[in-house]
Amino acid sequence: MRPLILDPLFRSIRTLGGVGPKTAPIFEKLLGGERIIGLLRHKPIDCIERGHIKSLSEINKEGIATVRVIPTAHTPAKRRGAPYRIAATGDGQPMDIIYFNAPGQWLKDTYPLGKEIVISGKIEFYNDKIQMLHPDYAVVPEKASEIKSHEPIYPMTAGLSPKALHKAIENALPLLPALPEWHDDSIIKKYKWSAWKDSMTMLHHPQSSNDTLSDSPVRQRLAYDEALARQLAMQIVRLRFKKKKGIAYTCSKDMRRKLIAALPFALTGAQSRALEDIDGDMAQSTRMLRLLQGDVGSGKTVVALAAMLNVITDGYQAALMAPTEILTRQHAETLLPICESLGVNLTVLTGRDKGKMRQDILNVIADGSAGIVIGTHALFQESVTFKNLGCVIIDEQHRFGVHQRLNLSDKGIAPDVLVMTATPIPRTLTISLFGDMDVSRLNEKPPGRKPVETALISQDRLADIAQGLKRKIETGERIYWVCPLVEESESLDLANAEDRYTLLQQLYGDRVGLIHGRMKPHEKDKVMQKFAGGELDILVATTVIEVGVNVPEATVMIIEHAERFGLAQLHQLRGRVGRGSDQSSCILLYSAPLSETAKERLAIMRETEDGFLIAEKDLELRGAGEVLGTRQSGLPSMHFIDIDAHRGLMDMAHDDARLIAKNDPELTSRRGEALKYLLYLFEQDDAIKTLGSG
Ligand code: ADP
Ligand code: MG
Repeated sequence: MRPLILDPLFRSIRTLGGVGPKTAPIFEKLLGGERIIGLLRHKPIDCIERGHIKSLSEINKEGIATVRVIPTAHTPAKRRGAPYRIAATGDGQPMDIIYFNAPGQWLKDTYPLGKEIVISGKIEFYNDKIQMLHPDYAVVPEKASEIKSHEPIYPMTAGLSPKALHKAIENALPLLPALPEWHDDSIIKKYKWSAWKDSMTMLHHPQSSNDTLSDSPVRQRLAYDEALARQLAMQIVRLRFKKKKGIAYTCSKDMRRKLIAALPFALTGAQSRALEDIDGDMAQSTRMLRLLQGDVGSGKTVVALAAMLNVITDGYQAALMAPTEILTRQHAETLLPICESLGVNLTVLTGRDKGKMRQDILNVIADGSAGIVIGTHALFQESVTFKNLGCVIIDEQHRFGVHQRLNLSDKGIAPDVLVMTATPIPRTLTISLFGDMDVSRLNEKPPGRKPVETALISQDRLADIAQGLKRKIETGERIYWVCPLVEESESLDLANAEDRYTLLQQLYGDRVGLIHGRMKPHEKDKVMQKFAGGELDILVATTVIEVGVNVPEATVMIIEHAERFGLAQLHQLRGRVGRGSDQSSCILLYSAPLSETAKERLAIMRETEDGFLIAEKDLELRGAGEVLGTRQSGLPSMHFIDIDAHRGLMDMAHDDARLIAKNDPELTSRRGEALKYLLYLFEQDDAIKTLGSG
């Protein structure tokens, strides 16, 4: 399927000279993949200008330089830790080359007396004498070409030398094919961009630090490539999604009245408004593709139920996909009594149903007697057939990648789709992340919730806090204790969840539980159930705690090293408490000293519980790159796009992609053909698969 001309880029880096069986896994770790294209996307973050080789007499200022000299004397270190001095001259000028703790024999071999050598590194003047400490390079003149006049600096990983990385990249660059231009001529001219192949080559041959900045022409072009690939993929999937006719539902007012009567509360204004949007979509024969954004606890589930009932009344089935088993069951528990009172059949299917049990469930889904089906995403990856699926609700919680999911959910049926997310995404970023989805926001909390009291307390007082929980426990309250755990570096000095667990166990015995990411799902479930059921008073957790889980009796949230969390994350975590009628509190422990930004960020947590406001503020303070750039954000990683610097380009790409999708939906024009290359280069194969197939 992929054009042959691109094949060399999609081969394994192991096929490159210089990448051996030992280093390949390290490369793969650094690049997050094994393809050559990934290596070529690994971008330099800086550039050292070494300049051309100079003679010593040309040196008149400090800084990086490459010089040609002849060693004249070695003065070994007098003791450990003392300098080893190599005197050298060039053009009659003297200089010293200094090493600390380097093996003497190696120095004697590298700097033989009387033999010319080329060294590169930082020149300093020490007592008016030229000196270089630990040169970056020291090579014989024949190998001087190894020292680049402009040396790109790449993000590295332990076990890999810059030299090996440079060599691999230099070996990969000749594999770049010349491809037809996929951008409009006018844009290329306006921004004076070079062709893709040249841009990729220039990316790895920067001539200055400036060339490695986000706003350099090369980076801009490549970022625009990436943005257009993403937006175009989303537009193509969306277009195909919309091309299939949906069903115009009656949206019976009768059923809605019954539902409202069955609820123990009145809908909030925000819920009613969202339902107006949804009913409007569902009453039309085009398919609904809507995003429902709302904080944890904002009442998305009832809205989802109301939408599902719209199709049930007309004799269709509805499915609700939850991201985890726990949430699947929680949704089922909430919805079952209401569905029963309305006479609607509700069925649950998870990966755990096996054998005959599973077959029975599959049967009622296939014959249509299951009205509402709740399950994990596996619902759509396995051999599940619906009789007449009319509506799919995807509860994303904090994950993204909806568009991939839209393809998966496409099994010859054309259901309406509502995606729910608990991550309040700033308006300015919705389009970049979700393309052109329609959006409804639940920006109003159900009434009767007491605000969560939030306090900032120094980490030094941790022991007092642990002691103080006694009073809370005596009154039957339940406590979450969250410890951060950074995947990238286990050696970081982080509060270790196990240590905390031990400490709290010493105080409160077996009323303390521990839940963390390394546990198996069923082990996590078990601990969670115990906490929900009241067998545990305190739950120590890493950030992996299942954010959607509802334990109304939990009233205290303690978060260690709060300064290390994103605001959105803190907000989600705090949303675990304050769900019942009791007063709840959240203690943010921080380790001093805090930076000004960190202070401001934590202060916002104290001032407001509005998730949308918090998201906007966080964006303002830290920039989108930081806010979304973490793995927790669930955002697919960007290669060239710098969300903050390239906002304008991203908007432009969005408009561009819309036009392309409108005028050339199957990408058959000359530009369209070129754009297919672009989609492959950014691995948007999903979108390409849908071309010509609907
Ligand atoms: P979300 O899925 O958005 O996190 P839920 O749908 O689980 O939130 O709702 C949280 C809690 O609020 C549930 O116990 C639900 O019954 C309750 N709830 C939902 N809507 C209302 C409302 N309009 N008034 C009072 N309580 C509500
Ligand atoms: Mg929910």
